[in-house]
Amino acid sequence: MFAIVSDIHGNLEALTAVLAEIDRRGVKDILCLGDVVGYGPNPMECLDLVRQRARVSLMGNHDFAVFYEPFNFNSGAESACYWTRKQFENDPDVERRADRWKFLGNLPVRVRTNEFVAVHASPRRPVNEYIFPDDIYTNPGKFVSIFERFDKLCFVGHTHVPGVFLEGPDFYSPDELDYRFEVTDEKAVINVGSVGQPRDRDPRSSFVIVSENAVEFVRLMYDVDTTVKKVEAIEELDNFLGTRLLDGR
Ligand code: ZN
Repeated sequence: MFAIVSDIHGNLEALTAVLAEIDRRGVKDILCLGDVVGYGPNPMECLDLVRQRARVSLMGNHDFAVFYEPFNFNSGAESACYWTRKQFENDPDVERRADRWKFLGNLPVRVRTNEFVAVHASPRRPVNEYIFPDDIYTNPGKFVSIFERFDKLCFVGHTHVPGVFLEGPDFYSPDELDYRFEVTDEKAVINVGSVGQPRDRDPRSSFVIVSENAVEFVRLMYDVDTTVKKVEAIEELDNFLGTRLLDGR
């Protein structure tokens, strides 16, 4: 049994709540699908916690942006990225600073086991491609191509919208699945949702617990008001990056 978290985005209140819930359930093994930093007010604290707690963390587009350069970012995201980079650079502890850069620069883009493949975004463009429920209607060829890239299960994050895509093509939200997906022979792309910035109109943190033949979707409320206040107190972070958390958009 293990937990998969993704898209923490510097939201320490959300991450600590999720880690406490994972501990409470006695789950030891954690996989992180990336975007530990970017948008939120506590990128370094979140990175340090993920380094301690996750077996692996993958390269997300915001991790890439802070380490290398932002790619296709809107102005709010870009400003947050440069602010985040400045926090890392301003840490006076030389060794800790170097360790963090080393960790960010060495994030793998994919994990592959006999049971599953995991990436931040999509199996064909692991760091940057969005797989949206609407693609079923607007871009069916994209689904065929994505499902050709893995054998059984593929875990993703990136859109901050949890749910399960089947080859049909079909999409099921956690609500429609009663928060539990039974794994069968059918291929599935499973989006675990976002810990630190959910965008499915539910402000609660999202993550999954994977057991033998099922994936459980978990939602968890955290102290969102504290995070919003922190965002509002930092000039380089657009206030919307705080207020959007209140209604999960
Ligand atoms: Zn993200």
